[in-house]
Amino acid sequence: MENNVTIKKRVFPRKKICRFCADPSLTIDYKNVDLLKGFINEKGMILHRRQTGNCAFHQRRLTTAIKRARIMALLPFIADVEIE
Ligand SMILES: [Zn+2]
Repeated sequence: MENNVTIKKRVFPRKKICRFCADPSLTIDYKNVDLLKGFINEKGMILHRRQTGNCAFHQRRLTTAIKRARIMALLPFIADVEIE
């Protein structure tokens, strides 16, 4: 019997810096669909903060913007699971 356990660690080698803190000219707006698209996956779900690297403040504003954009039909909705 071989006890071969492989643990897949999801390690990000580089420390991600919040894009919006780094670039003050970037504004989070629900009309800025091209920007918001970079923060959703192919299913239309909002990426986690660990994946985006955003700070809490900007991540919060981003989710609000994405939700708004969904209502305005600028971004796709995912109706299956809504985890808040
Ligand atoms: Zn930030």
